[in-house]
Amino acid sequence: MISGASRTPGGRAKNVILLIGDGMGAAHRFAGQLLTAGRSGRLAMDRLPHLGQMNTLSVDHETFVTDSAAAATAIATGSKTINGAVSMNADGRPQPTMLELMQQAGRATGLVTTCQLTDATPAAFGAHVPHRSDQSEIARQFIHETRVDVLLGGGGAYWYPLGEANPFSDPEPLRAMSRGTAGRLAEDAQDRGYQLVTSPRDLAGVAGSADVRRVLGLFAGQELFVQSEEGKGDLYDPAVSLAEMTASAIQLLERSADGFFLMVEESAIDRMAHRNNAPLTLKGVLELDRAVQVATAFAAGRDDTLVIVTADHETGGLAIAGSGDTPYPYEPGGGLLDTMLAHEDGPFPVADEPYGFVVGWATTGHTAAAVPVTAMGPGAETISGTFENTDLFPMVLEAAGIEVGARG
Ligand SMILES: [Zn+2]
Repeated sequence: MISGASRTPGGRAKNVILLIGDGMGAAHRFAGQLLTAGRSGRLAMDRLPHLGQMNTLSVDHETFVTDSAAAATAIATGSKTINGAVSMNADGRPQPTMLELMQQAGRATGLVTTCQLTDATPAAFGAHVPHRSDQSEIARQFIHETRVDVLLGGGGAYWYPLGEANPFSDPEPLRAMSRGTAGRLAEDAQDRGYQLVTSPRDLAGVAGSADVRRVLGLFAGQELFVQSEEGKGDLYDPAVSLAEMTASAIQLLERSADGFFLMVEESAIDRMAHRNNAPLTLKGVLELDRAVQVATAFAAGRDDTLVIVTADHETGGLAIAGSGDTPYPYEPGGGLLDTMLAHEDGPFPVADEPYGFVVGWATTGHTAAAVPVTAMGPGAETISGTFENTDLFPMVLEAAGIEVGARG
């Protein structure tokens, strides 16, 4: 049974697993539920015992709606910043991240994503750059400076010098030219003690090998999917799933006697929502939920692991309505479909019901909507009510027994 009540008195989180559905608002979670668990079932992420609501606004000079870099920076460092900045505050000063502070306290560390490893969300936990576009510098910092133990995801193109050969020529839709600007980083990683793997088989091999500590797994040149509108080349059928990467990362990190910090990101939710591609946005939600099941299965049998599931922001302004065009003569305006926005997707079936649902999109961008946060394990009880994205930083560190010093 999943229960936050299993916490031992005075217990702290030896391990922290933070799962981020990029762009995943309340409606994305509910749509995933309708599709697989029905109207009264629950996704694994919504069965966690503690629930809060997190505000996501950034302190950009031109908008209040955040991008993924400012949002991940707020979560990772406790400092709001301008859009595009990676773990630097609005004055351009690097801020220590929760991954770095957990590492200083002896924890092993890992970053897992279906996006480029060097994209904004993972970047904000293990690198500091003025702008998220500097992906090779982010990769360099991961292995030279932060020395994150386990790195699994896409974006292999940034680890090989511009124009040179790389292992990411297959399958065709995911082919990617090398575009690295910071030298032979994949080789460099190996020189620095990382096992480099590019196939699920090799990943399983190193994860099962007791003497392996550092792993760099690159499974695509760019994302582990192709972002596009429906029927226009969209694809999400990765060689290695987020759940498999999460399981391998936990297998590697749990060997650390002092515990670990692991951030897991499902990026397809955001990327597909930018294209208003409902089927693959929902697939992203369900892929994240499978990774959540891996995390909660690990945490459920012990009292020392904090699991948090949240988002950096909402993407698409997603709305859900019934698919039957039921008129409401007692309300002006007719049925729900009459009031749906122009960009409508579906219908999708509601599990175990004779009716379906449709989704509507308000935008192809991000919105200012608050996002749900669910949690289990020691410290999860502090996830409650409405709070800022910057509040997760002290919540996680305090749960892990790490003093949060003055920051500037
Ligand atoms: Zn986005």
